[in-house]
Amino acid sequence: MSENKVKTIGVLSSGGDAPGMNAVIRSVVRTALSKGMKVIGFKQGYVGLMNLEYEELDLRSVSDIIQLGGTMLFTARCKEFNTPEGVKKAADNCKKLGIDGIVAIGGDGTFRGARDLSLAGIPCIGIPCTIDNDISSSDYTVGYDTALNTVCEMADKLRSTTQSHYRCSVIEVMGRHAGHIALEAGIAVGATCIIVEEVPHSIEDVIAKIESSRKLGKHHFIIMVSEGVGHSNEIAKKIEDATGIETRATILGHVQRGGAPTVRDRVVATRLGYHGVNLLEKGIGNRVVVTNKDEVIDYDILEALSMKKTIDMDLYEMAHEISI
Ligand code: ATP
Repeated sequence: MSENKVKTIGVLSSGGDAPGMNAVIRSVVRTALSKGMKVIGFKQGYVGLMNLEYEELDLRSVSDIIQLGGTMLFTARCKEFNTPEGVKKAADNCKKLGIDGIVAIGGDGTFRGARDLSLAGIPCIGIPCTIDNDISSSDYTVGYDTALNTVCEMADKLRSTTQSHYRCSVIEVMGRHAGHIALEAGIAVGATCIIVEEVPHSIEDVIAKIESSRKLGKHHFIIMVSEGVGHSNEIAKKIEDATGIETRATILGHVQRGGAPTVRDRVVATRLGYHGVNLLEKGIGNRVVVTNKDEVIDYDILEALSMKKTIDMDLYEMAHEISI
C-alpha cells in the first residue's frame, strides 16, 4: 500500500437502479481499500449525503454482493440536492467527514449532481449504470446486458403461448426515450417488427408486414415496442382489428431492472469502478468513466453530457430485412 494524499472517498448510487450497481460498489471499495483509503457508503444516493446517512465500508461489507441485483446502498432521487443550497450542504457534509472524493453511480442526472459537487470543491466521478444504455458518452452502461437477457427470457416464454395459439404478442420494453433494448432484444427473439421512437413508423406498415409474413406461412408474431413509443394496447387492438389475429400487449415493466447481473455487467462494473478510484487517487474529479470500443476512458462531465448517441441503424435495417 502506498502513502496517499487521498485518504477517504465516498460512494453512492442514485437515480434508477440497475443490475451491476453492487459490482461497481464492490470494485470501488476493494480498489480504494487496496490503496489504503477509507470508504464511506452513503445511503439512497444524494439523500444520504444531505442527511448524513452513511456507513463505513470495509472489505467484508462488500462480500457476497457481486452477484446481486439492486444496490446495497439503496438509491433515490433527491430534489433538495438539486439546488445551490443543497449542493453547498452536501459539500459541507463531505468536508465534515473528511471526504476527498466521491464515486456517484447512476445516469445523467446523477452526473449533473456530481459536476455541481465537483465545482463546489469535492472531486466526483460518475459511473454509468442504467439498463437503458442511453448514456451518450458511453458505448455501454452497466445493467444493459442483464436487462436484455431478462427481456429475452420473458419474450421466449411469451413465444410458447403465442405460437401455440397462432397469436400476435406486442411486447413493450423499457428504455425511456432510447430504443436500444427494443432493438437488440427484438433481434434476439426474432421479432417480426421492432418499433422504436428513433425511427418513424406507421401502424399500417406493421400490419402490412404481418400480412406479408402470414402469406409466407408464418402464424405467430412478436412485435417489440420501446417505452418511448408506448400505446402498446392500442397497437395490439389495431393489429387485431386489421388482421383478425388474436393480439395481446404485455408491458414487461420493472422486472427488467431486477435479477443477477450477467458476466458482462459484472466485468464492466468492476473495470469502471477501478478506473474511477484510480482517478480520485490522483485528485482528478468532474469526470465520467465510460467504455469506448471496450476500452475504459473518461470524459469531463459537461463534455460527456453534451454528447449524442442514437440506435445502431445498421442493426435496425438488418432486423427489418430479415424478419420476413
Ligand atoms: P436514471 O436516469 O437511470 O434514473 P439518473 O441519474 O439520470 O438515473 P435522475 O433522477 O435524473 O436519475 O437523477 C438522480 C439525482 O441526481 C436527482 O434526484 C438529483 O439529486 C441529482 N440531479 C439530477 N439532476 C441534477 C442537476 N441538474 N443538478 C444537480 N443534481 C441533479
